[in-house]
Amino acid sequence: MIKVYLKRKIANRIFNGHPWVFGNEAERIDGNANPGDIVDVFYNDGRFCGRGFINPKSQILVRLLTRHKEEINEQFFYNRINKAWNYRKKIGYTENCRLIFGEADEMPALIIDKFNDYFVIQTLAYGMDVWKTAIVKTLQEIFNPKGIYERNDVPVRELEGLPQQKGFLSANFDTNIIINENGLKFYVDIENGQKTGYFLDQQDNRKSIKHIVKNADVLGVFTYTGTFEIHAAYYGAKSVLGLDISEHAVAQANKNAALNGLENIVRFEAMNAFDVLKKWSKEEKKYDVVMLDPPAFTKSRENIQKAIAGYKEINLRGMQLIKNGGFLVTSSCTNLVPPEMFLHTIELAAKDARKKIRQVVFNAQASDHPIIWGMENTNYLKFLIVEVCDK
Ligand code: SAH
Repeated sequence: MIKVYLKRKIANRIFNGHPWVFGNEAERIDGNANPGDIVDVFYNDGRFCGRGFINPKSQILVRLLTRHKEEINEQFFYNRINKAWNYRKKIGYTENCRLIFGEADEMPALIIDKFNDYFVIQTLAYGMDVWKTAIVKTLQEIFNPKGIYERNDVPVRELEGLPQQKGFLSANFDTNIIINENGLKFYVDIENGQKTGYFLDQQDNRKSIKHIVKNADVLGVFTYTGTFEIHAAYYGAKSVLGLDISEHAVAQANKNAALNGLENIVRFEAMNAFDVLKKWSKEEKKYDVVMLDPPAFTKSRENIQKAIAGYKEINLRGMQLIKNGGFLVTSSCTNLVPPEMFLHTIELAAKDARKKIRQVVFNAQASDHPIIWGMENTNYLKFLIVEVCDK
């Protein structure tokens, strides 16, 4: 087995449980390592650190799979996936859930979303991709699913020397499926939807708008397939308008409204959020509730300030569009913007908009995406509801 020795001054991060070893943290490698090989990692003094997969082409040299000297084989993957499934059952996420949330389930670079009887998987590192067959076999054994699909059309794979690809990992099936959530139905386009097709991470947060939308005129921006907006209509909103820049998303959203018989209350249009928020706030349009759920604004540290400026802009405009005593429902999924930084940005936006805000709800993602303390990027979703009053 290839051996990787860490530098003497290795980050406490690894010692404390973080599974990544960066290239500049290794002092030497004994053996000729190829991408995907299983390696043993040792501290500088020779003590065993853990076992994982290596990729000399990647900035993340090793991702640890275990801190024990256990064999990495098909059974190992079966055990890990089964453990993650038992955890989801224990915390009450079974019908639709993120079954594997990468590092948070000790399965680095693996994402598996379960949409009832269908599974969508992403293997985002070389050493995880190698085990795709074992992973699929496990899913077949535990779930006997109706279908498994690979959404590896993700640019990050190229950093690992992997191609972008998507396709069936089981017999072919109709990739337009319907899932249930909070008493509603939604189409999920597994093949062409964003990411794995559906954002399960907001499933609990969607419920938390229940009381504030009653009899309200609601504006939802960055709507994607209309999930928050359709929830608003279902919970008794008077009118709901949802906006997204993608025509495909808007078409899906309108289909979802009709699927739930709510098309007379909620409608969707394709528009650029930044233009609309600016224009309508100048025209002094008003809503009882404004909801914002933009995509991640940056994936690189250099652009954090730009991302913050983006959050400030849309939230400032959003607050200006709210009637006195109405509510702002606002999210951020940029993992490089920690919760405190997001809250501070909202505070600055309120100040500039001359509004007084009162916190109603502050949440992260649903619990099927566990947060591991010490692994900041597992704590990525910020979801905030505030009451907005004139100063
Ligand atoms: N609220 C949704 C998820 C939104 S994802 C849900 O819970 O499922 C973010 C959405 O923002 C994407 O659908 C994307 O098409 C849209 N988007 C990105 N840039 C935009 C822009 N400038 N204006 C409007 N929508 C935009």
